[in-house]
Amino acid sequence: MKTALIEKYSTLGGTCLNVGCIPSKALLDSSEHYHNAAHTFKTHGIDLENLGVNLTQMIARKDDVVKQNVEGIQFLMKKNKIDVFHGLGSFVDKNTVKITKEDASAEEITGKNIIIATGSKPSTLPFIKLDKQRVITSTEALKLKEIPKHMIIIGGGVIGMELGSVYGRLGAKVSVVEYLDAIIPSMDRTMGKELQKSLKKLGFDFYLKHKVVAVENQGDEVEVKAENAKGETISLKGDYVLVSIGRRPYTDGLNAEAAGVKLTDRGQVEVDEHLRTNVPNIFAIGDVVKGAMLAHKAEEEGAFVAEVIAGQKPHINYLLIPGVVYTWPEVASVGYTEEQLKEQKRKYKTGKFPFMASGRARASMDTDGVVKVLADAETDEILGVHMIGPRTADMIAEAVVAMEYRASAEDISRMSHAHPTYTEAFKEACLAATDNRALHI
Ligand SMILES: Cc1cc2nc3c(=O)[nH]c(=O)nc-3n(C[C@H](O)[C@H](O)[C@H](O)COP(=O)(O)OP(=O)(O)OC[C@H]3O[C@@H](n4cnc5c(N)ncnc54)[C@H](O)[C@@H]3O)c2cc1C
Repeated sequence: MKTALIEKYSTLGGTCLNVGCIPSKALLDSSEHYHNAAHTFKTHGIDLENLGVNLTQMIARKDDVVKQNVEGIQFLMKKNKIDVFHGLGSFVDKNTVKITKEDASAEEITGKNIIIATGSKPSTLPFIKLDKQRVITSTEALKLKEIPKHMIIIGGGVIGMELGSVYGRLGAKVSVVEYLDAIIPSMDRTMGKELQKSLKKLGFDFYLKHKVVAVENQGDEVEVKAENAKGETISLKGDYVLVSIGRRPYTDGLNAEAAGVKLTDRGQVEVDEHLRTNVPNIFAIGDVVKGAMLAHKAEEEGAFVAEVIAGQKPHINYLLIPGVVYTWPEVASVGYTEEQLKEQKRKYKTGKFPFMASGRARASMDTDGVVKVLADAETDEILGVHMIGPRTADMIAEAVVAMEYRASAEDISRMSHAHPTYTEAFKEACLAATDNRALHI
């Protein structure tokens, strides 16, 4: 199909490559190296002198990683003969999009089918003024010029925990204020509890069940006021406040009305199970539609819509889109959480294996965490896998494959896993789920 792409910024790759997944992982990797050098090298028998952080260089390396990835996308557009237009795309009618460039010049292009993939932007609260200096979002947190002394994070979700980890490892004091009674609350609750323990070791303070009521920039300092369940108010003072309470679907300037495309009450583009909007030739994918705001979910949806337009009959199993938090230990999940199974009144059994009992984890001194497998009580089919520990972001792929092929916990427990690897913990958790047969606990 002849394809055109419209992007309002000068670089391609959207949130993920420019201000999301890639830059955050680059800083997580750099800060993890520093943290290990400062805290575990000595035990490994490596002595260092004059260890320090050069934040300017750390950010510059991150920028370079972003540049390489963005250029890779540019190359792929050329290779696949996709016409790229830079400018704001807005609908004129259901087949026509006007592209307004930076110099205010405009042109119109037409298409038989149009895919809306305009993504999302950080959300805020009505009373918080994001000044982008002291009161910041993830975008600014990826390019700070100094290591905060005290970073206050509003929201205990994935982005807050990841960026908090970056600056916590570099020496910042980190305080997290969360409205709910757990961090990473949409994941299996065991994960949040375990992650909280690990982050406390890094020096994080948590104020759960606290509702932020005021944020005030006082020059070099910011004050955050929050109310607990009893109605008592606490006050926290820091030099940066990261507002990470989620992201909102972004359709500003798109002029969806001109094409007759309906939005939901939450501002998402409304789509059916084929990701088609109410206008048959217009589709929508990624963060701007319902579902998890994840790059690999957006990617699956992109391929899905291309196949629908090509007349194929693709399928996405949304239950098996994994979710990952790139803290250390990493958290990775797929399938149902224990809370969801309870709600469904489904009979299930649980198998757990702690990394403390893993030879590989002891060798690398990464013994925090656990693998938890939830399997159907009668059929033994794996219903959910929740892991917190070293390299679980990569390990979760095995659970996705297993669940896609509807494996039982016993199936996995009868497969050879290389020794010593972290992946043995998954096999052991599956053994634990099948009549408590784990070998190493
Ligand atoms: C700090 C951070 C870390 C993250 N880490 C991860 C992670 O580790 N793993 C993961 O899976 N996800 C992660 N995400 C989420 C991930 O970035 C998003 O889910 C993903 O980028 C969504 O892709 P998308 O194509 O739907 O939208 P986007 O990537 O937001 O792309 C939308 C693009 O459309 C452009 N645009 C919008 N409106 C118009 C218009 N009218 N005309 C022209 N162009 C327009 C925007 O400029 C943007 O480039 C992270 C996000 C953040 C903020």
